[in-house]
Amino acid sequence: MTTPTAPAERLHQVLERIRAAAAAAGREPPALLAVSKMQPTEAVAALAAAGQAAFGENYVQEGMAKRAALEATLPGLEWHLVGHLQSNKAAQAARTFDWVHSVDRPSVVTALARHRDPARPLNVLLQVNVEHEAGKSGCAPEAVEALAAQVAAEPALVLRGLMSIPVPHPDPEQRRPAFRRMKALFDGLAARYRTVDTLSMGMSDDFPVAIAEGATLVRIGTALFGPRPPRQSG
Ligand SMILES: *Cc1c(COP(=O)(O)O)cnc(C)c1O
Repeated sequence: MTTPTAPAERLHQVLERIRAAAAAAGREPPALLAVSKMQPTEAVAALAAAGQAAFGENYVQEGMAKRAALEATLPGLEWHLVGHLQSNKAAQAARTFDWVHSVDRPSVVTALARHRDPARPLNVLLQVNVEHEAGKSGCAPEAVEALAAQVAAEPALVLRGLMSIPVPHPDPEQRRPAFRRMKALFDGLAARYRTVDTLSMGMSDDFPVAIAEGATLVRIGTALFGPRPPRQSG
């Protein structure tokens, strides 16, 4: 019988791998976002108890439920929406999350700004479909400029940077050119906006490559929590 690895141990291992990848590339270690989608609230609580404070969710409803369940016992956790945002969920997303990584069109910017209290501005990343993949979320690289200007003009939003999910590939090395293009886009944006400091890229199977190419935040699920349970109905 195998003993499942304790959450604290998995967290330690992932942080070690992040540090090693950053050291090898001569870069600062990026922040770690624990992607807890489809993981039970208890798994989030266990990782939070081990010291992890920032969590990412894909579904607005699921994020709201976990935040509400943990607020009393674990105050101060930071919640990020990393999944595609439907316009009809923007109001709830604006009230629930500290960050949204998946802003990719003008209507979502308008909706988030309308429902967010400007006294507590929402941190926004623009999701970029850097490889022009058909049918994928994310704005085209050519659209970043206009969308960034729209976010920057909203007092209820803070433009923090860019996010991408490269085309899945069994060999993470094949994603390097996409990460490199994201870094170039990010540097261009950071030169124009003082608030831009976050490049969100890299997941369980490719984060060392993303770190080498300049990620400042990696989004990791499976390597921290183990495989995701099947999605519950309802
Ligand atoms: C699920 C997900 C992740 C984490 O993926 P893992 O491969 O489990 O690390 C990161 N980012 C987004 C947008 C996701 O949907």
